[in-house]
Amino acid sequence: MRLFYLICVTLFVFVNLSAHDRLELNTTVDSVNLSKYADVLFTDRVDLPYERISSAQYNTRFTPVKSESVSAGYHKGAVWLRFSLYNASKEPFEGTIELPTPWINYIDVYIKRELQTTTIHTGASRPLSQRDVTSKSYYIPLRIDPSQSVDVYMKFYGQDALTIAPYLYSKAYAQKEKFYSNLYVGALVGIFAVIIAYYLILGISLKESEYLLYAFYIVSLLFFMGTYYGYNLQLFWPEYPHWNQKMVAVSVALTFYSGLLFARHFLNTRVHMPQFDIFLRSLMYLFLALVFLRFLVDDHFLIIRMIVFLVPFYSLGLLYASFRLWQKGVPGNGLFVLAWLLSMVSAFLASVMVQGYVDYRPEYYYFYGIATVIDIILLAFALAAKINTIKRHKEEANHALLQKEKELAELYANKNRELEKIVSERTGKLLEMNKKLRTLATTDKLTGLYNRARFDEALKEEIDNASKDHGKFGVIMIDIDYFKAFNDQFGHQAGDTILSEFADVLKLAVVEKGILSRWGGEEFIVLVHNAELNETKRVAEEIRKKIEAFSFSYAGDVSASFGVTVFKEGDTISRILKRADKALYQAKHSGRNCVRVQ
Ligand code: GH3
Ligand code: MG
Ligand code: MG
Repeated sequence: MRLFYLICVTLFVFVNLSAHDRLELNTTVDSVNLSKYADVLFTDRVDLPYERISSAQYNTRFTPVKSESVSAGYHKGAVWLRFSLYNASKEPFEGTIELPTPWINYIDVYIKRELQTTTIHTGASRPLSQRDVTSKSYYIPLRIDPSQSVDVYMKFYGQDALTIAPYLYSKAYAQKEKFYSNLYVGALVGIFAVIIAYYLILGISLKESEYLLYAFYIVSLLFFMGTYYGYNLQLFWPEYPHWNQKMVAVSVALTFYSGLLFARHFLNTRVHMPQFDIFLRSLMYLFLALVFLRFLVDDHFLIIRMIVFLVPFYSLGLLYASFRLWQKGVPGNGLFVLAWLLSMVSAFLASVMVQGYVDYRPEYYYFYGIATVIDIILLAFALAAKINTIKRHKEEANHALLQKEKELAELYANKNRELEKIVSERTGKLLEMNKKLRTLATTDKLTGLYNRARFDEALKEEIDNASKDHGKFGVIMIDIDYFKAFNDQFGHQAGDTILSEFADVLKLAVVEKGILSRWGGEEFIVLVHNAELNETKRVAEEIRKKIEAFSFSYAGDVSASFGVTVFKEGDTISRILKRADKALYQAKHSGRNCVRVQ
């Protein structure tokens, strides 16, 4: 259907340049840029009425526009536009004049026919209810009868930029244009809203401030676009145009403030380029200050000028920072640079167009929105790339940590093993030493027999055992006879040798019958296991005989006296030893070299 429409509706516009640029419409007109057929008059005064402007005095002062638009930028006076339309066809012309930029404060349109002049008042600074035309782009209805001509005068003034670009549309084209323009704005708002909601949820649920800052930036952008595409007033405060005008500067400054807030966080300039971050932070607070200043100072011009002055520092500053950090390899920054470039280009284009340095073109006007959508999508990707890289770095770091832990554990295990080896070696040595020490502590050096301390232990044990299970054992105390004499005669050394030989004889005689010990000096003691008195006595006699029979060095014959006793119920060490000693005493007094019993 649309294709059919496009084929059928042809644009037949015959332009008569010589006759004061009168635009002849001889059949259905699709779309005409009226600037090309308009004359313009710039006045310093805004109070000159239509009647004066349309009079002969002023009529000659108009000059032809002959360009795409009348972009007067910020102009303190009024701008008048004038063009003539002639319907050369036999059909009445039903159409619309569109003024697409929604921010022009005051627009007064005078349509002069032969008999009467129609006046239409509209513009951003008039409450919606007081406008003759309420659409956000001003769609001014126009009807021209066959062979009728109309002169249209338009007056533009106000503190906002006078970006004047009147278009003439056929009724059908106007509807289509309106539809697509609304669709476009609707799509923009929709996309923005979805992204905002998504990142808000993400930011809150993941407690990731970066997402929230990003969402805040997009909210500001959406708010700003509301002033740029004109839906803020219609949506939020249709009856408060003054407030709406305040919101222009507020939304722009807020966008730059939130942009810096997000970008500084994203790029982490505070850490990566601390000096430059001071500059960016100052700039950020300046924009924030301007937001508040706008509420205090009711001078739209002034605040807008201040913002416009700061914008290059903002754009170039962030571009520089992102580019530098991209080169340094900060994650996600390639996309960030791209996004910032795009946003800069689109914002620059929009700004020079608004300020009147370049002509208004619908492409430029709508490009900003598309570019901004692409921009925030690029930023979303940059954000994702950054988070991914950070995640990967974290994983790598974790992996490295695990590896290190494993290595450490291995090292520790190895060391432990070594330590265990050393400990076991040392323990072995220690045990050996202990054994040696014990042997040293329990053995008599000269004879190799148990010493007295060891014998005491053994005796105590034997008493305990015997007490418990009614056991029996005997004790023989031995003393060499006249030993002093050997010492005196052959010397101490010889005495030692005799003692040693004496012990050897004892060892052979006792063997496994019991425990043998050197009691001290030339005295010895024998504990005979499991022996009653007779048996003990017999062992004593056996030893005595062996001594008697043995031929000792130096002395030749050596004899010894024996005191014998046995364990009795309730005995203690001292009691047994006392009895044995007593028996030995008796043996000595019985002439020595004999066995006596107690
Ligand atoms: P008795 O028949 O009355 O036992 O006479 P005795 O000479 O054997 O007795 P006494 O107690 O008067 O002398 C013991 C001597 O043994 C005195 C001491 O010099 C000597 N003696 C003690 N221990 C050792 C030793 O380890 N080596 C040497 N060479 N002599 C020792
Ligand atoms: Mg003695
Ligand atoms: Mg003696």
